Amino acid sequence: MTEASQKAPYTTNNVGIPVESDEHSLTVSPDGPILLQDHYLIEKMAQFNRERVPERVVHAKGSGAYGTFEVTNDVSQFTSADLFQPGRRTDMLARFSTVAGEQGSPDTWRDPRGFALKFYTEHGNYDLVGNNTPVFFVRDPIKFQDFIRSQKRRPDNGLRDNDMQWDFWTLSPESAHQVTWLMGDRGIPKSYRHMNGYSSHTYMWVNAGGERFWVKYHFKTDQGIEFLTQQDADDMAGCDTDYHRRDLFESIERGDAPTWSLKVQVMPFEDAADYRFNPFDLTKVWPHGDYPLIDVGRMTLNKNPEDYFVHIEQASFEPSNLVPGIGPSPDKMLLGRLHSYPDAHRYRIGPNYTQLPPNRPRSPVNSYAKDGPMRFEASNAARPYAPNSYGGPAADTARFGAVAGWESAGEMVRQAYTLRREDDDWGQAGTQVRQVLDDAARERLVGNVVGHLAQGVSGPVLERALQYWRNIDKEVGDRIAAKANGG
Ligand code: NDP
Repeated sequence: MTEASQKAPYTTNNVGIPVESDEHSLTVSPDGPILLQDHYLIEKMAQFNRERVPERVVHAKGSGAYGTFEVTNDVSQFTSADLFQPGRRTDMLARFSTVAGEQGSPDTWRDPRGFALKFYTEHGNYDLVGNNTPVFFVRDPIKFQDFIRSQKRRPDNGLRDNDMQWDFWTLSPESAHQVTWLMGDRGIPKSYRHMNGYSSHTYMWVNAGGERFWVKYHFKTDQGIEFLTQQDADDMAGCDTDYHRRDLFESIERGDAPTWSLKVQVMPFEDAADYRFNPFDLTKVWPHGDYPLIDVGRMTLNKNPEDYFVHIEQASFEPSNLVPGIGPSPDKMLLGRLHSYPDAHRYRIGPNYTQLPPNRPRSPVNSYAKDGPMRFEASNAARPYAPNSYGGPAADTARFGAVAGWESAGEMVRQAYTLRREDDDWGQAGTQVRQVLDDAARERLVGNVVGHLAQGVSGPVLERALQYWRNIDKEVGDRIAAKANGG
């Protein structure tokens, strides 16, 4: 054996035993049958059959990278959260995604984009699982599964179906604001680097003195907002289905690390009680005029995953990962998601998913959880129960700080949020169409809607869709109706 051949990597099986051949199975004579004792062949075939974990029901197609979040402004008056203290730098992971498509779907389909972040803080993982839009289609988690099914495939023919989408949207007028976003320019970002991220939900911040605030996060792209027209996106879908994944990977690879500036809107705790609309309603934004943006810091993505499956496909984000100084709000969608995300990971990856590289905290884990499939880290609790008298970990209430909660009382009901002075489904969508979009953007919006309706939407669903747009804005609705009816 030469020195060079001794140094070259050699194939082994999964437990490190050198393999005899990469090319030939073990047979009785060159033309004879394959032998059962070819354990390496059997291992290869069996492993291959088990390479896939179930894809996410939503946000199946994604891309991601590691990076850093650094605080550039002092917001400690609002939160004691470790990662938002002055001068702090925190390692993090981001995963961007489309919502309705599958693993192989084109990146450039019209769809909101997921914007999921995991911060490896001194007090455990903090996850912020948002979108590139500040609002959402529904405001009660009991409708979420129905909404997603309307975006996915029809049971009979296995096809996506615009009629299903408009049927659901027009029967759910709370969707109007988000549908306006989706049908506008921002419904197809040019790349993941050229879109903002929003918490969408309202969260609670608590400062060191126990004072509470409501907060919304805005990650503004420093690359600038850019979009693809429907035609550009359709062309791209035909020639590069992975365009956004490729763009993110290649820009980081060439040292062009994308950055986002984090700003927050902060509402004093007491304001929420009689604000003119429900500030926890996920279908609404807080106008900047009422709650201006406050600088917090900058997120930089500068490290590609070494292995896509290990680091991105298995990355498990969960809005329930809230660190001391940050809590949930009475947003019903958020409260529903606190349960559903970890539940999805247990099903998809297995109950010990938090031990995997992208999900493992960088701070100590002194949990009493034990055993279960594929557990590979030993428990560091000498006795598996609390309390115990053998030096096991004990909860330190002071370390957690003030409880991030609110007061609530009343009868148990199944009802919508109580309506306030300016709670309606059309108002903010109309503001966007009339005041935020310019003439050219409004014209593209009309074209996008007409094109979408032209693909299989008819009869009463089409009639309702035209009325839906007139409710958002009479003039834009009339233009859509005229074109949809062949004008
Ligand atoms: P402002 O005029 O203060 O804010 C309008 C915001 O709209 C901009 O700051 C920008 O937010 C965003 N925007 C700009 N172009 C587009 C576009 N083509 N599609 C979607 N959003 C765009 O007004 P208000 O705060 O009073 O909000 C008015 C409307 O603006 C809302 O009804 C909502 O639809 C939209 N909007 C509001 C946001 C908020 O948090 N207040 C956030 C985003 C949109 P950005 O800098 O975040 O890109």
